Amino acid sequence: CKIDYAPPPDLLAGRVILVTGAGDGIGRSAALSYARHGATVILLGRTTAKLESVYDEIEAAGGAQPAIFPLNLEGATLKDYQDMAVTLNNAFGRLDGILHNAGLLGRITPFEQYDPALWEQVMQVNVNGPLWMTQALLPLLRASPDASVIFTSSSVGRKGRAYWGAYSVSKFATEGFVQLLADEVEHEGGLRINSLNPGATRTAMRKSAYPGEDPMTLRTPEAIMPTYLWLMGPDSHGHNGEAFDAQPPRRT
Ligand code: NDP
Repeated sequence: CKIDYAPPPDLLAGRVILVTGAGDGIGRSAALSYARHGATVILLGRTTAKLESVYDEIEAAGGAQPAIFPLNLEGATLKDYQDMAVTLNNAFGRLDGILHNAGLLGRITPFEQYDPALWEQVMQVNVNGPLWMTQALLPLLRASPDASVIFTSSSVGRKGRAYWGAYSVSKFATEGFVQLLADEVEHEGGLRINSLNPGATRTAMRKSAYPGEDPMTLRTPEAIMPTYLWLMGPDSHGHNGEAFDAQPPRRT
């Protein structure tokens, strides 16, 4: 956990960074924060209006001109991600990082009652989409001198918890995939793959998982950005295949 990390203002200068689920919650904060620290940010998500509002906020703050990439991870195939790699290469000629942040909660319900279609949907958005996107973008990432790929995990992806269904399994799969791919790129030097658990954070997803909770007791997305910046930037160079937390654990 690097919540006390103090990044230099130009931490990500010259870097091109893709953020998925950039329109809301933690992804929105990460996109704004990466842009504020010098990155050219590619905003990927399924609701274009939300991405446009992030785009406008980055421009108004004087950040490098971002790009909007509307995509629904639920229906996307490897071909879509390969086309995306060509588009990004033509537009930017480089890619220095991906924050795989988009995610679906599914339902909190006993496994016995879990709907198979919803299970597939959660696995598609949380696991298969990010995984094939990564495969398609690997050549661009490998060409960067210091590329960081961050997969978003959760406490229920490290220890199973009753009723968390596909979401928990998807985050376990994410952790497993991070270990596997990190091991494959271990000796490449320029490319690192890690997982990051944001911890309880004040967003719409947290609200739907814990409707009775007072959101004011939770850290905001903005408050957990130091770890997101550290893991995306050069100060985490050399860390590969590790599981990080963005904030200290809570008592509950
Ligand atoms: P939000 O629900 O607030 O935001 C999720 C983002 O993902 C939204 O921008 C959403 O787009 C996007 N998204 C969802 N489905 C798709 C899809 N099919 N295609 C493209 N984009 C999609 O969630 P959080 O910000 O809370 O969560 C961000 C990440 O952090 C997730 O991976 C989550 O699992 C993880 N996490 C969050 C915790 C928390 O306490 N908040 C705790 C542990 C982990 P749209 O806005 O258009 O719906």
